[in-house]
Amino acid sequence: TKEKSLNFIEQIIEEDLKNGLPQDKLRFRFPPEPNGYLHIGHASSICLNFGLGLDYNSPVNLRFDDTNPAKEEQEFVDAIKNDVEWLGYKWDKEVYASDYFQQLYDWTVELIKKGKAYVDSQSSEEIAQQKGTPTQAGTASTYRDRSVEENLDLFERMKNGEFEEGTHILRAKIDMASPNMLMRDPIMYRIIKASHHRTGDKWCIYPMYDWAHGESDYIEQISHSFCTLEFLPHRELYDWFLDQIYDENKVRPKQREFARRNLSHTVVSKRKLMQLVKEGHVTGWDDPRMSTISGMRRRGYTPAAIRNFADTIGIAKRTNLIDVSLLEFCVREDLNKITPRVMAVLDPVKLIITNYPEGKEEWLEAENNPEEEIMTYRQIPFSKELYIEREDFLEEANSKFFRLTLGKEVRLKNAYIIKGEGVVKDENGRITEIHATYDADSKSGSGSEASKRKVKGTIHWVSIPHAIKAEVRIYDRLFTHENPDGNKEIDFKEYINPDSLNIITGYVEPSLAHAKAGDKFQFQRLGYFAVDKDATDEQLVFNKTVGLRDTWAK
Ligand code: ATP
Ligand code: MG
Ligand code: MG
Repeated sequence: TKEKSLNFIEQIIEEDLKNGLPQDKLRFRFPPEPNGYLHIGHASSICLNFGLGLDYNSPVNLRFDDTNPAKEEQEFVDAIKNDVEWLGYKWDKEVYASDYFQQLYDWTVELIKKGKAYVDSQSSEEIAQQKGTPTQAGTASTYRDRSVEENLDLFERMKNGEFEEGTHILRAKIDMASPNMLMRDPIMYRIIKASHHRTGDKWCIYPMYDWAHGESDYIEQISHSFCTLEFLPHRELYDWFLDQIYDENKVRPKQREFARRNLSHTVVSKRKLMQLVKEGHVTGWDDPRMSTISGMRRRGYTPAAIRNFADTIGIAKRTNLIDVSLLEFCVREDLNKITPRVMAVLDPVKLIITNYPEGKEEWLEAENNPEEEIMTYRQIPFSKELYIEREDFLEEANSKFFRLTLGKEVRLKNAYIIKGEGVVKDENGRITEIHATYDADSKSGSGSEASKRKVKGTIHWVSIPHAIKAEVRIYDRLFTHENPDGNKEIDFKEYINPDSLNIITGYVEPSLAHAKAGDKFQFQRLGYFAVDKDATDEQLVFNKTVGLRDTWAK
């Protein structure tokens, strides 16, 4: 029993258990089509299905819905497996709709023999014209009453590759007058002469989603098949197909629908994400600006943050747009717990401590993460010449400016109290050097009277001779519009933000010298950053994951 209140999906399951479904018959699946990389919308579905698996101690299959060889690839299968694992879930069986092609074919032959399916040899235009409208019955195909023998013969020859694509299809014989358009003799098979990533050229007829999906659920004995709302009208057909093959000693799968999750300022559709990749608007599926799980991983998001996000938004009955700032909140919350604090300067200006001995260096102690239960420390170097952020200094400032200014004191984080004394400017009036003096007795943690002196501000810094130059990639929303997909008249690409990537050079403390791809840090006072996969031994590269607080102005 669960403490929190049940969502409507859990209520459905509880109801079925109450009505006699044994708990050990519960089985779920996550059924991606391997035609692209998973996105944050899929994460909701993954967390739902695998979360149910954990809650009920039930197996969850990872099923690849691979019935269209023209669009599916092994690369996508591999990426999907990697993403589900990374999110922290374990599937029971790795299965493929293509594993069932023979069984589906055999069942289809039975359907033909019972007069419940026929080969239609009209053009797709003709078939479309006969569909009718929701209020007007469709027209029967002239091939609807073909004999069983002729249907069996044609279907076998379709399978044997005797016909070209588009010349014949196999349709279920249901009801051309059904108020549900999907029941008007839906297509079960079409001819596709493309190599399949798993079955190669063995098949040239491929089952449609509706024929393959419920039957795959049945073969795997899935008790609850959860899908998104657009499949609601398909449920009748899902059930009709099951009726044809169902053995009552077995579990009869149940399709139920929940609302698709959309995220603001991005698109969640593999087809659209594919366009962004193919047309070069981003560097790839794992571009850190993408709504893909791989993009978010590379950006520095954590599995815990994404799971927590999915849990927070929950499962809904109506489609809505979730503000991306909620996702960022979850990311920040997790990174705050787990990332070491380090110092980095991203818009450097030189600070010279005039009374600090020339050539001297000292190593100061800095705590790694105040959130840690048992505090750990590292050493950071200090010297006469430092970088600080340009915006942390103003020659003249009002009393609300708690950073460095002339004649006032500020603390250098983990180091000394300094006082601004003067500036050097270039011919354009831009400050090239700030001169300051330090109070040698004020070292942080030294316990001296001077170290306990209260000064209004603390700023971060790096020691110039020790700092490491790094490329830092700063991201903004990929789309300027909250819902780029929302207006069907306007192409979503019209809203691409031309300034979504800004590459700068920053300086980081030397403890980061050996940071590797995927390592995550809090750059103090700046935000969370993760080492990118492009980093090498010679060149550190960071992605800005998210700022320290929500500064996004709408
Ligand atoms: P896309 O349009 O991006 O290709 P899809 O629904 O066609 O999405 P599938 O690979 O068929 O992608 O999806 C696998 C599972 O993930 C399905 O059960 C689907 O309903 C679910 N899913 C896909 N997108 C979302 C979303 N935005 N929110 C919640 N669940 C989703
Ligand atoms: Mg799809
Ligand atoms: Mg789909």
